[in-house]
Amino acid sequence: MSVASPSPARTPRASAPIVVAGGGLVGLAAALALAERAWPVTVISGQTHPPDGRTVALMPQSLDLLRSLGLGDVLATSGSPLETLRLIDDSGSLFRPPSVAFEARELGLDCFAINIENHALLAALSARVSAHPAITLLNDQVTGTTSRDGLRQVTLANHAPLETPLLVAADGRRSAIRTALGIAVARKAYPQVAVTGILKHERDHRCTSTEFHTRHGPFTLVPLPGRCSSLVWLTAPDRAETLSAMDDAAFGRAVEDQAQSMLGKMQLAGPRGKIGMGIDRIDTITAPRCVLMGDAAHAFPPIGAQGLNLGLRDISDLLDCLDHSPDAGAAEATQRYQALRLKDISTRSLGVDMLNRSLLSPYLPVDFARGAGLLALASIGPLRQFVMRQGIGR
Ligand SMILES: Cc1cc2nc3c(=O)[nH]c(=O)nc-3n(C[C@H](O)[C@H](O)[C@H](O)COP(=O)(O)OP(=O)(O)OC[C@H]3O[C@@H](n4cnc5c(N)ncnc54)[C@H](O)[C@@H]3O)c2cc1C
Repeated sequence: MSVASPSPARTPRASAPIVVAGGGLVGLAAALALAERAWPVTVISGQTHPPDGRTVALMPQSLDLLRSLGLGDVLATSGSPLETLRLIDDSGSLFRPPSVAFEARELGLDCFAINIENHALLAALSARVSAHPAITLLNDQVTGTTSRDGLRQVTLANHAPLETPLLVAADGRRSAIRTALGIAVARKAYPQVAVTGILKHERDHRCTSTEFHTRHGPFTLVPLPGRCSSLVWLTAPDRAETLSAMDDAAFGRAVEDQAQSMLGKMQLAGPRGKIGMGIDRIDTITAPRCVLMGDAAHAFPPIGAQGLNLGLRDISDLLDCLDHSPDAGAAEATQRYQALRLKDISTRSLGVDMLNRSLLSPYLPVDFARGAGLLALASIGPLRQFVMRQGIGR
């Protein structure tokens, strides 16, 4: 897998643009990466979503890709490095394992990831997409798609239909394009809601992300610049309702209590959000002259910071496939994309699902296995290093 490098030759590779549907982080990054490889691109970008306190921790491969697309400045100014990951068992289990700390320097890295607010990254991506000469931006929604005469037709709510050699569907978890293509999704809902927010705190986080494993899922504080952290609190739906109904001061106190006052007094410093959790299994991520990517191709709970990192790997693999194909949507290219992506996607989905279910399970043997796993990680250096490498996608 390689990352995008700005193409010196700007001669367009095709006359009809590749159509990218979706103006989220994956769609915009894909559009930029394709345009940098001299593919003309039309982006269909509809509604914008208000900030909801969500952040993304981006791992080294993702950072390489984004920097190659000119996003180094926003990562440096708005992101915080994540040097240590700490796991603390707060499940009340009979087999309470010790806490485990993973240090990036054990792998010879400065940090595992950079954590940045979604809306800061999205704003920087939007600015670059808008300014790119090879990208046309249409403010619209895809309403349907069919395959005709060896090309893909894309119908839009407010513009004339488009004809493209390749449709990149990055239209999110509820992908209308996936539905129009008749691609099935096996969806499993979890009895969990993620409560998100940005908080200021009294003490330094020391570039440490701390994850408390509770009976309802992980409660995680991830460093942001200054004395700020982002919160991802996976909890039971009724508890999420209660938290959301709290005023800002009470919410800050609830977060401080759950964090065992580790970072001192907590104060809300931005918008909050609430997202229902589930996992989508999708076994087909291509159709004639179409590929799915990002949350349209895989969606699961934010455990281990995998979602966007996986979406950015979708982009890198698509670029590799297109490098070997003068025709963007040729069957060999889309089939190769599917073959490359499905293994990575299914391994990550399985890992996240198992870890999440081990927390939700009321059974003692499961508790014991999870506790033994954490104990092994705390005490066996090579195992810890292996897990760290897997976690950051190496
Ligand atoms: C609480 C939380 C924390 C997370 N933390 C991390 C993390 O630390 N690291 C990580 O890697 N990942 C993380 N993720 C996952 C990550 O945020 C997502 O995987 C990523 O943002 C998905 O981006 P996307 O562009 O695929 O989808 P979306 O952000 O959903 O974007 C889809 C876009 O398509 C548009 N659209 C929808 N329908 C149409 C249509 N018909 N036509 C045109 N456009 C359409 C939508 O308006 C939207 O703009 C987290 C997720 C959550 C919920």
